[in-house]
Amino acid sequence: MRIIRVRHKGLAFYAAIVSPESVRPLNREAGQPEEIPLAELELLSLIRPSKVVCVGLNYLDHAREMGLAVPEEPILFLKPPSSVIGAGDAIVLPASSEQVDYEAELALVMGRTARYVSEDAAAQHIFGYTCANDVTARDLQKKDGQWTRAKGFDTFCPVGPWIETEPGDLGSLALRTVVNGEVRQEGNTASMIFPPHLLVSYISNIMTLLPGDVILTGTPAGVGPIRAGDEVSVEIDRVGFLQNTVIGERIDESLDEPTAMQ
Ligand code: MG
Repeated sequence: MRIIRVRHKGLAFYAAIVSPESVRPLNREAGQPEEIPLAELELLSLIRPSKVVCVGLNYLDHAREMGLAVPEEPILFLKPPSSVIGAGDAIVLPASSEQVDYEAELALVMGRTARYVSEDAAAQHIFGYTCANDVTARDLQKKDGQWTRAKGFDTFCPVGPWIETEPGDLGSLALRTVVNGEVRQEGNTASMIFPPHLLVSYISNIMTLLPGDVILTGTPAGVGPIRAGDEVSVEIDRVGFLQNTVIGERIDESLDEPTAMQ
């Protein structure tokens, strides 16, 4: 099932795509039709996470290409919720970075509150799976020695375009990044070091995962730069394809104007 988030007659809700023209609300409110034409809906951002938890160096081939040791435990970092954008939105290259890279990643969307969850119980806490791009200012990541700035710019977390609830075997999903129609990165979740259910368990033993929270599970080898004017897509077999444009930063100086006193 493919799930999107929409608004219809002032009401925001999750809905399943049932045909190219219509959706079915997941939890139908009184008076709501069983099926609603897409044309009557406003598409909303897919997720509103309290946090985006990311895993670094979770593919053997990517750890090797970065010249780093294979981690013994998951390496975690956070992206701020303000970095999240949806399919079709623009990734904005910050003026302070000379090298911004794409990173294709399988994302898990949490469906239930998870704290001290075992690996066996992880699946029942996951709502579904989607595509993510862990956009990274590579030069700033190396310069800073920690990753908050490099990973945290606005627009650096494209996620979407829908949540797939039944992607099949999580250990055999092919994923790739395509830039301007050319395949630049290819991998398979078969080479993940720490698989999705282990990650949910590991993270839930550190922090409470809330419904809507997202886990980015790491990227395979083949990361590389994006430039203004590029069209970049993350494609994951049986999950979806997430396309975004890339633009340069334009500072809107009106944001700096002091607000008039009332
Ligand atoms: Mg990453």
